[in-house]
Amino acid sequence: MTYKTLSGKEPAEEVLRDIEHRAKKLHRKPMLAIIVVGEYKPSQIYVKRKIETAARVGVDTEVHRLPEEIEEKELIALIERLNQDKKVDGYIVQTPLPKHINAQRVFEKIDPHKDVDGFHPRNMGKVLLNIFDENMFPPATPSGVMKILHYYNAPIDGANVCVVGRSNIVGKPIAMMLLHHNATVSICHTRTRDLASYTKNADILVVAAGNPGLVKADMVKEGAYIVDVGTTRVLIDGKDKVVGDVDFENVIKKANCSPVPGGVGPMTVAMLIANTVKAAEQNLARLNKKS
Ligand code: NAP
Repeated sequence: MTYKTLSGKEPAEEVLRDIEHRAKKLHRKPMLAIIVVGEYKPSQIYVKRKIETAARVGVDTEVHRLPEEIEEKELIALIERLNQDKKVDGYIVQTPLPKHINAQRVFEKIDPHKDVDGFHPRNMGKVLLNIFDENMFPPATPSGVMKILHYYNAPIDGANVCVVGRSNIVGKPIAMMLLHHNATVSICHTRTRDLASYTKNADILVVAAGNPGLVKADMVKEGAYIVDVGTTRVLIDGKDKVVGDVDFENVIKKANCSPVPGGVGPMTVAMLIANTVKAAEQNLARLNKKS
């Protein structure tokens, strides 16, 4: 029996083709602003990828780089400016933020109409309430995971799902999205007793722990669908590499699994740009209503 590699590249291309088409219909290019605080290397790489992908599909970007030691109130002042800036359709604050800044407090200052990462409590609340309307932005990574599962026809309705990780930006929203698709969801974390008893029972397993090698082949169910969200930078033979949480090489012999890199990463970027185009469409619709 061979199993599917759940590559994120093809579903991401599908999303990007649709975005490009929608972006062309607008009277001006959508604009995504990106705030980057500090010099954290992985963030610089992710931001570069977002800028390149946006440009490919006709979305403009502007980057606001702030020094590591910036005070929270200065970051919030920039957010307030971007909330008022008419040429900016949506913006994100690249995470992680330096420890002295309270990320949740920062997210709450973002205008929910411009919150294309979907981190504002209003957008998060809508995920919880299953209100995926034209005024909301679902968080990009969980949306990307859903897109991968749909693209490869993973049967979600009635499935036993295990989500490893309970963060606000990945674990909790993806668990809610899967619940809304009628899965029976267990959410595991570091205090879970006997993690393997949950993962082994899962028809769909989403791993977002940031713990390389956490999920091994003997912890997964034969034929399951496994999405590895984890991205950890490690030095292998002196080279900087990105690895996931799942032992892909062995797990793929037993189940369908997304790779790292090339799985959730490209999907996250595509869903962020999709939210930006949606924000531009909504912006235009609001302007038309006023005039
Ligand atoms: P996070 O805030 O650090 O949360 C990690 C979660 O995993 C926590 O809930 C933690 O449990 C749980 N966990 C860690 N080790 C565990 C273990 N041994 N057993 C069971 N649970 C464990 O991380 P995050 O922001 O959700 O990100 C998770 C991973 O996804 C990271 O590697 C991140 O880089 C990656 N990521 C990738 C993308 C992408 O686009 N590809 C996007 C976002 C995040 P506790 O709550 O008990 O501490």
